[in-house]
Amino acid sequence: MQPKELWFDASKCFINNQWVAPLSGKTLPLINPSNGEQLCEIAAGNAEDVNRAVEQAQASLQGDWGRTTAAERGRLLYKLGQLISENIEALAVLEAHDVGKPLKQARADALAMVRYMEFYAGAADKIHGSTIPYLEGYTVYTLREPHGVTGHIVPWNYPMQIIGRSIGGALAMGNAAVLKPAEEACLTALAFADLARQAGLPDGALGVVPGIGAEAGAALSAHPGVHHVSFTGSVNTGRLVQTAAAQNVRPVTLELGGKSPQLVFDDADIDAALPFLVNAGIQNAGQTCSASSRILVHRAVYDQVVTRMGERYAALQVAPAMQDADIGPLISARQKQIVEGFLAQGVDLETVAQASLAADLPEGGSYVAPTLFAGVSADHVLAQDEIFGPVQVIIPFDDEEQALQIANGTDYGLVASVWTRDGARQMRLARQLRSGQVFLNNYGAGGGVELPFGGTGLSGHGREKGFEALYGFSSLKTVAALHG
Ligand code: NAD
Repeated sequence: MQPKELWFDASKCFINNQWVAPLSGKTLPLINPSNGEQLCEIAAGNAEDVNRAVEQAQASLQGDWGRTTAAERGRLLYKLGQLISENIEALAVLEAHDVGKPLKQARADALAMVRYMEFYAGAADKIHGSTIPYLEGYTVYTLREPHGVTGHIVPWNYPMQIIGRSIGGALAMGNAAVLKPAEEACLTALAFADLARQAGLPDGALGVVPGIGAEAGAALSAHPGVHHVSFTGSVNTGRLVQTAAAQNVRPVTLELGGKSPQLVFDDADIDAALPFLVNAGIQNAGQTCSASSRILVHRAVYDQVVTRMGERYAALQVAPAMQDADIGPLISARQKQIVEGFLAQGVDLETVAQASLAADLPEGGSYVAPTLFAGVSADHVLAQDEIFGPVQVIIPFDDEEQALQIANGTDYGLVASVWTRDGARQMRLARQLRSGQVFLNNYGAGGGVELPFGGTGLSGHGREKGFEALYGFSSLKTVAALHG
């Protein structure tokens, strides 16, 4: 892809519905992870650019955007969804080049962004306050109000999905949003902004400031004019964002990844489970916060699951994003180095299968062979740390109690699934698993715009997606009227 194929100026920030050069005058190279070549240059936005976007967002709340009714916000989001829908292929091509994900995954992400717009369009005018019985002579009611300016810091792994869920919910509630996309992948964030402008979103209601995290991201999380921060990314950066926002006593939603288990019992439908067991681990080359990187298997079916997962691994195809194989490259040479570092710590483990890498893969691409380890002890580093690569470990267990102990035995708690035909066990484990989402006889890595999503422990706090997100993107005011 050459810059001429972009229909917007990727080297600019998007502020007040206009493309403006970053005040630093600096740009950053955007790299195609499939071949290591430069795609284009993006703006190196800094604290001053963030400040401009926040000021315009504040002005929009005092102006047109602040006066827009809930129904009209819904109409705008719906129109934006339609425009995204008309541009699915173009957006998917941008995302495939930028993130390195296979084209079919990029198309699915674009479709998810449409669904987020549709969902939040429909929800915008359906969130109500309530009346509360109180003392004699009083009428008490609650109002759900936008926070004001919301800051959104998103990662590179699923830009379209995460922008859709985060910005969709924030705008539906009437906030003005300032978005800081990841420096590794920000083209669809800019495309989204351009489509929002075309849909008629008023000036300042959405700003996008690309730039490196330590500058633009840090400035957004620390800005006193930002009233809520939504962050998705690594645990360490999440800590920095929460600490910065705490100086202004601002609420923060953190979505920080996980070490999500799937529990396979001896009465499970293994045929049904197998595609989920593997796909949930290798989707997006394992760079998924809700990737299922731990497979816990009852000893009675352990050998069968190990063998059959291994067969699937051996057949996996790895190729540049536009060739649309099972798996593309990792996002960057740095991420490849991190994943290879983890693989090196697995040298003593039983490697069940490692997909082979074709000899003709582009030299500059960040490719890693998907790898499946078995017989892994629950406390091994590969069973504890988030790898963020196409690597899964299989851990055996003897009974339900041990399975639960292992499943809950990491610092994370984002997603878990249970494969069993025993209904009572399903209900028990759904309650006992320490996890933001539990799937019974299925697994939904990131799927379902309707489903509230978020974690416990190091996976973060707060919920995005679904109707629940609208509570997070708003605050509640109680009005108590004494009328006698
Ligand atoms: P990161 O946390 O550094 O980056 C995520 C976002 O935060 C980016 O937009 C980045 O620019 C921004 N950022 C960076 N430093 C910042 C700061 N000081 N203040 C505010 N914002 C800042 O993540 P990464 O380096 O891109 O990836 C590293 C690891 O993070 C991965 O290996 C993976 O474990 C994890 N990760 C998780 C998710 C997820 O969905 N939970 C997504 C991407 C990465």
